[in-house]
Amino acid sequence: MNELKTELDWSAYDSYGAGDAYAQLPANGGSFGKAAAVCIGNRQCQRDGKGVMCPSFRITQNPDHSTRHRAATLKAALDGEYGPDPFIGPELEAAMDLCVACKGCKRECPNGVDMALLRAESLAQRWKRSGGMPFREKFFANLPRNAHRLRHFDWLGRLRENIPLVANLAERWFGISARRTLPKAGRSFLSCLPSTGPENGREVVLLVDTFSNHFDGKTAQAALEVLTAAGFRVNIARAESGRPLCCGRTFLSNGMIDEAREEARRMVAALWPHVEQGLPIIGLEPSCLLMLRDEYFALGLGEKTAGIAKSALLLEEFLAKEHDAGRLALPLQPISCGHVLVHGHCHQKAFGAMKSMRKVLGLVPELKVDFIESSCCGMAGSFGFEAEHFDASMQMAELSLLPRIREAQAGTLLVANGMSCRHQIRDGAKRESMHIAQVLRQALP
Ligand code: SF4
Ligand code: SF4
Repeated sequence: MNELKTELDWSAYDSYGAGDAYAQLPANGGSFGKAAAVCIGNRQCQRDGKGVMCPSFRITQNPDHSTRHRAATLKAALDGEYGPDPFIGPELEAAMDLCVACKGCKRECPNGVDMALLRAESLAQRWKRSGGMPFREKFFANLPRNAHRLRHFDWLGRLRENIPLVANLAERWFGISARRTLPKAGRSFLSCLPSTGPENGREVVLLVDTFSNHFDGKTAQAALEVLTAAGFRVNIARAESGRPLCCGRTFLSNGMIDEAREEARRMVAALWPHVEQGLPIIGLEPSCLLMLRDEYFALGLGEKTAGIAKSALLLEEFLAKEHDAGRLALPLQPISCGHVLVHGHCHQKAFGAMKSMRKVLGLVPELKVDFIESSCCGMAGSFGFEAEHFDASMQMAELSLLPRIREAQAGTLLVANGMSCRHQIRDGAKRESMHIAQVLRQALP
């Protein structure tokens, strides 16, 4: 195959397999190939039962939709088995088709194969060689740059919801499933928000992501109220100029690496002065905030990445940390509904953040907290909107999440920190769920 110039920085894998005669490193691809060769083929991703790894294998029971097969296909491609240009061939496309980039493998594979990142590089290589990407993928990737315009097209969404023909045409022309509802954009939460909280309070920085800003402002509002009630002075993270900050997630997961890097650079520039002052950066949407701790290292952003990563915490992680340090003064009281049922976002699970969810919800007096043993909700960013993936998306949700939600009594509060997860719960079980910030706000006096 032709020499490969990777779009992501794979140097973290430079020394992988050094001195191991059995590492089976691919002939091409350098450290990208080494990252694929991390898979040693022990098939733990093809196990059945209650494990949560690889939802695509769990719904299909087909080894061709497992992490192992994806890694093996990538290695074969880099070894030249699929011709000189494997990234535009059918083998890799088929292998990656049902990967939802959930990071289940990064967490649960004994070797920590990071298929979500390998998939992003494969997609980027595909677009580079095939002369551009399809409209639908571009549309989803560019959501953060266009979200402020979407509320002016609400009428189009209503038309689609009320007239099946419009939904069917949208499916035929754009590949967006007619069976899926669309999220509704509102006014930008950030548009006129000052720093807030007691003047002499300890300063923190709240990172309001694209989704909390344009689609779910009540989550950001609740977080703001909880943090100020705990005595913090909350600075809102802002770009020096222009549009609101974006972590770059939608670009990365659709294989638009240059755009992801551009967004990440704006983010680093905006956050760095706060990080230098030692302020924690607090985020709400797991896939956005955790990108600062994970994929930023693969975007070649320089030495500030480590400092940003160290300061970036999910709201529940920050509150749990403050509590452990004996510094959290959050006046919480019992809430009328005494039971919450929690679904963890895949990336929260991949980063071990569920412990913080348990700890912080445990601070609400008399609250019974249960966790759903679930895998990916199946929405996975744009995956659940894609016409050809709608059925797979719902099957993933039906593995354990939706049945458990339907069983929950009417008064039970459902908690899901990912906006996509909440959307899937609404579509699949007709139940509303909320971010942990909203539960905590309910518990404020
Ligand atoms: S991806 Fe991980 S669990 Fe699956 S076969 Fe490879 S090493 Fe084993
Ligand atoms: S990212 Fe998720 S869906 Fe993709 S291979 Fe890993 S576990 Fe499977």
